[in-house]
Amino acid sequence: MNERSTRDLQPQRHLRSLPAVSTLLQLPEIHPFAEALGERAVVQVAQEVLAAARHRILAGESPPDVVGWLRHELQRLIRPRLEPVINATGVIIHTNLGRAPVSEEAAFAMLEAARRYTALEIELESGRRGGRMAELSRLLSLLTGAEAGLVVNNNAAAVLLVLSTFCAGRSVLVSRSQAVEIGGGFRIPDVLRQSGARLVEVGTTNRTYVRDYAEAITDETVAILSVHWSNFRIIGFTAQPELRELAELAQTRGLLLIEDLGSGAMLDTAAFGLAHEPTVQEAIAAGADLVCFSGDKLLGGPQAGIIVGRKELIERVERHPLARAVRADKTALAGTAVTLRHYLRGEAVEKVPVWRMIAAPIEVLAQRCRAWAEQLADIIEGEIIRTEATVGGGSLPGETLPSVALAIPAATIARSVPGLSVDELARRLRIGQPPVVGRVDDDRLLLDVRTVLPEQDDALVQALRRVLRPM
Ligand SMILES: *Cc1c(COP(=O)(O)O)cnc(C)c1O
Repeated sequence: MNERSTRDLQPQRHLRSLPAVSTLLQLPEIHPFAEALGERAVVQVAQEVLAAARHRILAGESPPDVVGWLRHELQRLIRPRLEPVINATGVIIHTNLGRAPVSEEAAFAMLEAARRYTALEIELESGRRGGRMAELSRLLSLLTGAEAGLVVNNNAAAVLLVLSTFCAGRSVLVSRSQAVEIGGGFRIPDVLRQSGARLVEVGTTNRTYVRDYAEAITDETVAILSVHWSNFRIIGFTAQPELRELAELAQTRGLLLIEDLGSGAMLDTAAFGLAHEPTVQEAIAAGADLVCFSGDKLLGGPQAGIIVGRKELIERVERHPLARAVRADKTALAGTAVTLRHYLRGEAVEKVPVWRMIAAPIEVLAQRCRAWAEQLADIIEGEIIRTEATVGGGSLPGETLPSVALAIPAATIARSVPGLSVDELARRLRIGQPPVVGRVDDDRLLLDVRTVLPEQDDALVQALRRVLRPM
């Protein structure tokens, strides 16, 4: 037999050596999964892995470790997808890590709303059917000075709903600098088109004046949409009218002024050494008819989109058929209500995690970092360094907060665990339990203290001990 035909026989031999599904199921490392996932699911995953293995062999690859592969696939199904993660990235509102963690009280209210019945749409006093938004509307009104409020699924839905309610078939004026993409597929021109409204761009990319808006008004025009530059800046030779000036123009010409604020801060970020992020209260005071913002950015609550503004307008938004399609669930409503009460009571900086992180004094962060380093001193020599944390989540681009990180350089890692690279250490921490997400910078692993919840300090130290344990 020549060499070529021997090689052609190899795949057949490898295929025959693949185990049968029934054999796999009996293995001690696979069998326990039947208990956790049910036998049918395990059989199906085993069949899929075997089919994929056959495919690889026929493509000329060497035979894979089927048992290890199957174990890995089953393990992934058992671990809850949304288990708690330790955020050591230094990005406070991290969209990929679920944005804002909510306060303990908000989390508890969400749990209670989820596992019990709630008076969602019933007035307990009269026993009659009631609106699900009455309490939230009152809280929003007390906080922001608006007449009424409404909570929906997220801010993208809030903007789409408002535009669909008032602007379908009509024209909406938007500054050329604000016809932007916010991220994750949210583009202002697309949202306008989806709502049935026509976008009329006014001004230029860097400079737009009130007269640009005034000159663009026609019989078709129904609204001015102002979009906050959440995640970018335009600097240099720029001009934008004040919201107050746009409100004046809208009012005299009988148009609506709709503001997409994005982050929806209720507190002044400037009090914490950051640039001033426009607040919801300011937008209402300036004369916006409707203001839309996210519940899980600087508000620090669960995912939600919040609309505040004039009562008669909010009522029309509520009655639009799309309102039902984008409504918020009871757990989000419960968590949002508790979060809003933190602001009313003046305790948001102590209770709402994103504000606790923004407000944390650098000395406290340094102290916590020293404690981490001391608890790890027997296995690794970490360095305590100054870093810069960011607010993230499409808020305050370019703005940073001084922070402290535990830095673990490549050389130090290699001394503790020979052969372990910085990237591999970062990966092991990410796939650990709980997962820890840090950042790699300049051949060092950085674990930023500002975004780690103090109650996760012990878990972080333990996670590091596990992955740095000499093998
Ligand atoms: C973040 C943001 C949105 C989208 O809000 P979601 O709550 O993520 O849907 C819309 N507009 C602006 C200006 C934003 O910053």
